[in-house]
Amino acid sequence: MLQPQIAIVGGSGLYSILEKRKTQWITTPFGGSAPIELGEISGKPVAFLNRHQSPDRGVTSSHSIPPHAVNYRANLLALRQLGVRYVLVTTAVGSLREKLPPGQLIVPHQLIDLTQSRASTFYDGTTIIEIEGKTVSGIVHIDVTNPFCSTLRRILLGACKELGFQTADSATYAAMEGPRFETAAEIKMLRQLDADIVGMTLAPEVFLARELGMCYAACSVVTNYAAGLVNIPITHEETLRTFKSRIEQVQKVLRLAIQNLPPTQPDCNCYSVWETATHG
Ligand SMILES: [Zn+2]
Repeated sequence: MLQPQIAIVGGSGLYSILEKRKTQWITTPFGGSAPIELGEISGKPVAFLNRHQSPDRGVTSSHSIPPHAVNYRANLLALRQLGVRYVLVTTAVGSLREKLPPGQLIVPHQLIDLTQSRASTFYDGTTIIEIEGKTVSGIVHIDVTNPFCSTLRRILLGACKELGFQTADSATYAAMEGPRFETAAEIKMLRQLDADIVGMTLAPEVFLARELGMCYAACSVVTNYAAGLVNIPITHEETLRTFKSRIEQVQKVLRLAIQNLPPTQPDCNCYSVWETATHG
């Protein structure tokens, strides 16, 4: 089986869409990754990882690790060491705007990180990691002015358009610690900060991808209006139900995006920013 250049990272509700798959567990200096399925989409080798799946081979539940406890570093480094350069992810989000109703697909363009307790860098000054046969260590300050890859965003939006799915082509994602949902006052604050959607998983994932020179973009599904926007309690079951109602659309978008991914070097700077920051 060829090395995958592309990975799909999913959360609750998204099961593997790969053909001819086999599972691998990878150990990194930061611990074991979630199980990684290797297979194909449209003849291209693709890796699939469910970020909520336990790295323990004995645990089969698909939602066993809550967002604040996911080992994002092990997952991203494992994908990179397998050869992955492009990461397409799915995520469920709450909406802060009346114009973004439940069921809406969104490709976010910006992020505000308000998480509190997560290991958010590979470059802690001591750990040595190996990428492309070279060792990288020390302290690295990476540029994340535009955290999401411009090329992958364009491809995801193009796929949505080609399929006739209505999509919000930009949105600022606020990353919260969780696993609890937000208070009404927190949502009011996020609206004042110009955030449009709220979730618990894209940080530090998007930053860790940049720290490894990988392209990263997300296809988010609005599963509910955030706290205080409507007068009903938010439940995980309800958000999961809405996400699942859009799962086929998301899978079609991911399949077409992978099909449309150019074989040549993308015209973004995700890789060069990393190369400059780590190798000077
Ligand atoms: Zn890129």
